[in-house]
Amino acid sequence: MANEAFPALRKANDRIALVDGESSWSYRELKARINRCSAGLLEAREDLREERIAVFAPAGIGYATALHAVWQAGGIAVPLNVAAADAELEHHLANAGATRLIAARDLPPETRRLCGRLGIQPLAIDSLPAEPRRPMPPIEPARRAMILFTSGTSGKPKGAVITHRAIHAQINLLTKAWKWSESDVLPLFLPLHHFHGIINVLNCALWNGACVHAMPRLDIEKLCVQAARGTYTALMAVPTIYVKLIAHIRTLAPADRNAVCAGFGRMRVNISGSAACPAKLFRQWRELTGQVMLERYGTTETGMALSNPYDGDRRAGTVGQALPGVSVQRFDEQDRPIGADATPGEIRIRGDSVMQEYWNNAEATRAGFRNGWFRTGDIAIVEDGYYRILGRSSIDIIKSGGYKLSALEIEGVLLDHEAIGEAAVIGLPDETWGEIVAAIVTLRDGARLDLAGLKQWCDGRMSAYKIPKQLKIMRDLPRNAMGKVVKTALRDLL
Ligand code: AMP
Repeated sequence: MANEAFPALRKANDRIALVDGESSWSYRELKARINRCSAGLLEAREDLREERIAVFAPAGIGYATALHAVWQAGGIAVPLNVAAADAELEHHLANAGATRLIAARDLPPETRRLCGRLGIQPLAIDSLPAEPRRPMPPIEPARRAMILFTSGTSGKPKGAVITHRAIHAQINLLTKAWKWSESDVLPLFLPLHHFHGIINVLNCALWNGACVHAMPRLDIEKLCVQAARGTYTALMAVPTIYVKLIAHIRTLAPADRNAVCAGFGRMRVNISGSAACPAKLFRQWRELTGQVMLERYGTTETGMALSNPYDGDRRAGTVGQALPGVSVQRFDEQDRPIGADATPGEIRIRGDSVMQEYWNNAEATRAGFRNGWFRTGDIAIVEDGYYRILGRSSIDIIKSGGYKLSALEIEGVLLDHEAIGEAAVIGLPDETWGEIVAAIVTLRDGARLDLAGLKQWCDGRMSAYKIPKQLKIMRDLPRNAMGKVVKTALRDLL
């Protein structure tokens, strides 16, 4: 059985697995729900035989039940973004060839119509009241467990196929690297169609017998109240969430602010990933809470690959070293491996937690791997044994006047400008320079900025060829569900 691999679900004791609003569920209760749900999915069959079943539910007991029920019954789970537009849902459902969709609550009429058009049967988790049954099908680790859609750099999202073995390998290595234990309690607010929320938080917790407090959507105020009460032992979030936390903490009265900061400070670890954490944010968080953030790097296709040390020196603006059991190698443009130095190179990854393939897309799979290495498209240097990500080769590496510039490095400097709230840097085509540096920023309340002033400020803070030649001020930067800036949208805009 798939969930037999999860030690805490195997034990199924009375420890609390999940808190969802006012309700909480023990491992015993969660296991019973999973058993009933998987029996309902199987009906008279013995094994779902990799039937693709979409899971359409926010963080909560319904999601955890459905995901594990699909795994246990031998299906492939296709977690969907509950906030996705119908056109996106259609692409994911049709591409995965999903035949059923489990929803936590009533589907919106448009999504119901979409299912009808695609011949997909919608199911409500709570209307699967079947008796638990035995036996469940044996699940070989090599079998496919889930398809996660990821945009990559271009084209329509592709479905990364993750096997049970890859999930188990990933959880095992994160358990050791980040010292998970059954006494952990974590908030879960990340969207659950993405690796970070599904594996790093929810399933690492369920594997280890820890407890997650599900928030169907991020509630910064509640998160801070609970942090001040000492509810959580660890926090895993994306950089934009730390930005929002800092903004909220600054609005609090001194006594509340101290209590919230002390609450975050008492946790055993605060982790950031899925996008670059600017050095300024790292410093601000340390100054406020005393927490030295642990930044790590990974992708949907490979799982987590690089991490600052749990014990040891965590360095701002870096993502540490390869996690145990993951092979990481940088390659130059001629496909030659390069040593651990300051020469930029593409990160390629090998290991048990790497995906098997892109679903139904042999061409993308072929292009994604070279000699067994997954090509991430991310460029990094190594400084004193620590990886520093320069950005995605296709969008963050700007080729201007013969130089290759890192957008992430320039963004990091711009964030030190007192008028700038958020910054995104992109390259725009230019006849003379090949590309020119354009900065898109949001301003702090009441602040003003123009290009001449920005250029003057940058002079002496960065080499002349890195100084932005275009400036656009926006109210908000376009971000995806994971809080990452959608740079392709900015490029189209400019
Ligand atoms: P996704 O597959 O959606 O998780 O996106 C993976 C991509 O996010 C990577 O290929 C990187 O471009 C980026 N990414 C993830 N973690 C970091 C990090 N710590 N610093 C910089 N970029 C990151």
